[in-house]
Amino acid sequence: MALVNEHFLKLQNSYLFADIAKKVNSFKITHPKDKIIRLGIGDVTRPLPEAVRTAMHKAVDDMGHKDTFHGYGPEQGYSFLIDAIIKNDYAARGISIDPSEVFVSDGAKCDTGNIGDILRHDNSIGVTDPVYPVYIDSNVMAGRTGTFKEGKWSDVVYIPCTAENRFIPDLPSRRVDILYLCYPNNPTGTTLSKDELRKWVNYALENDVIIMYDAAYEAYIQDPDIPHSIYEIKGARKVAIEFRSFSKTAGFTGVRCGYTIVPKELNGFTLDGKHISLNSLWNRRSTTKFNGTSYITQRGAEAVYSPEGKQQVKELIDYYMTNAAIMRESLLKCGLEVYGGENAPYIWLKTPGGLSSWKFFDKLLYEMKVVGTPGLGFGPSGEGYFRLTAFGDRDETLEAMERLNKI
Ligand SMILES: *Cc1c(COP(=O)(O)O)cnc(C)c1O
Repeated sequence: MALVNEHFLKLQNSYLFADIAKKVNSFKITHPKDKIIRLGIGDVTRPLPEAVRTAMHKAVDDMGHKDTFHGYGPEQGYSFLIDAIIKNDYAARGISIDPSEVFVSDGAKCDTGNIGDILRHDNSIGVTDPVYPVYIDSNVMAGRTGTFKEGKWSDVVYIPCTAENRFIPDLPSRRVDILYLCYPNNPTGTTLSKDELRKWVNYALENDVIIMYDAAYEAYIQDPDIPHSIYEIKGARKVAIEFRSFSKTAGFTGVRCGYTIVPKELNGFTLDGKHISLNSLWNRRSTTKFNGTSYITQRGAEAVYSPEGKQQVKELIDYYMTNAAIMRESLLKCGLEVYGGENAPYIWLKTPGGLSSWKFFDKLLYEMKVVGTPGLGFGPSGEGYFRLTAFGDRDETLEAMERLNKI
């Protein structure tokens, strides 16, 4: 008799976006003629940059010749991509990263979800609230979160980020071993300054905390003073793992490529206090459970760093950030309280009239035929807030803003 991992049975309902899809589908059945505009799920809509496609076409041709065919590659990624990552994403900002610290993967969701494999089941978890649901659910599956009561997991420390603290998290009231930070933030679209991020690195250094730093949206940062990498902060190499993704940067959500940095100085501990290199554990985990990102995909990712690739990626980001500016301005004009959207492709707004976030979702869907994401879906501090994404088509974004004028 095979017993199941019963931690899975504790997971709260289905995935947030499945609940939303259900509601949208029932609306469609009852209102077949209405045109819905989706500013809900965090997926990009612009096509893959030409430089990336050209590189991928060429890589397909490489695969068609005996001399340039690629079978299994290194599990950690090809050095052509690792070198481009180090040179452009780190060395250019004065950060030195060794090639053995870079792990190319099929995306940051997998890595943020899988990283827990190398950590004991009884570590305590801290998250900023609201939060990207993957951090919580992957820890539920590993049995780290305790029981679910009144919207919260008993063993998760929730660090509220709301308008009251300008979305800047306070140090946690209770000890945590593993802390998830995501900046620029999904869902709030807010960022941390260098000083704020330094506060967290110092806290981690003093308290032996590991920070899981998700920088999937770093390419959207416009303000030159906002850190792109946690390693811009002194001491971060001893406490932080950083996750990056080509998904939102270069339209790779359907291609699948990201990478994770695990510095050599970063240690975990055994119960009897021995220091263990997390780099070597993650390397072992990767080589055992992963067989590498495809050659074609990695050639596509490499092209993101070519001169043409950089220009085309900048155009993509500018397109979405122009959407964000249009949305901010229009929603502010409606008299709404609006956050984010300046260094991230997300707009986080306070629901008007104290409506619950799901009530506001229904109102937007039924009265304006616009789909967004209810804040509560991202955690208890998301109640009373609502997320709109700037990843839509320009004309649809403009039309959605027109419809929302009626709020
Ligand atoms: C979209 C997103 C990612 C990227 O995930 P991929 O698996 O690389 O597509 C990671 N973290 C957050 C917070 C995201 O919103």
